[in-house]
Amino acid sequence: MKKVLASFVALLMAFGCIGCAATCAHEWSPATCTMPATCQNCGEATGSALGHNYHNATCTTAEKCSICGEEQGTPLGHQYVSGYCIRCNEKDPDYVEYGTLTGTITYKYNNYIGHRGDTGAVIFLIPKNTKSLPDGIGLGLTSYAKDGIFATKAGGNGSYTINQVPAGEYYVVVISNNTNDNPSRVADYNTWGPTILMFSEKGKTNAMTTAKVNKIRHGSVTIYGNRSADYSYDFGITYI
Ligand SMILES: [Zn+2]
Ligand SMILES: [Zn+2]
Ligand SMILES: [Zn+2]
Repeated sequence: MKKVLASFVALLMAFGCIGCAATCAHEWSPATCTMPATCQNCGEATGSALGHNYHNATCTTAEKCSICGEEQGTPLGHQYVSGYCIRCNEKDPDYVEYGTLTGTITYKYNNYIGHRGDTGAVIFLIPKNTKSLPDGIGLGLTSYAKDGIFATKAGGNGSYTINQVPAGEYYVVVISNNTNDNPSRVADYNTWGPTILMFSEKGKTNAMTTAKVNKIRHGSVTIYGNRSADYSYDFGITYI
């Protein structure tokens, strides 16, 4: 009797075991970068994890897995040379390029000799975003040119050069040295162009005083990096 019972129990266990194994119809969730395919029902795993598939870091992004998006490390950062990133060609926002302004200022001496260099003519180069101009500039004094404002005087043949000018938009004001204007002429603000608005009241008075005597020419110029721009002018004959 004991033997029969033991056989029955053994049989039951055997069937029970088979039944147990057969009850899980595995439902595999796909393998991920870090986990193998896993049965959602019983937790059994099969195969291996995919492993991350990192794309190279760029100037602005770290190494990034193309499958799961996980990042590692840090972005490379831009490597600027001469104003541009050697990897991605991004413009360096802090890079300043310098250019040059040259020109020749002349006036008409007479019909026989013709034109001569306006030696001593004052050339002001004023950034268009200038907020205020020193009063002394209204008097044509080059020593007052500072804080991004450039000034020079025409040389023996009327030529001048201003070097190391940051690229940008500028106003040019030229005050003749060898030609006078008619003092009774009403000098208007336009003589100095838009720069007149950068002066204080005293500076404006100075500028108008200068404009009554010396001929003045104003204009605009764009300075490009590593290039030379030209601003030349002939004042014609002087008022006698
Ligand atoms: Zn399972
Ligand atoms: Zn991944
Ligand atoms: Zn870059």
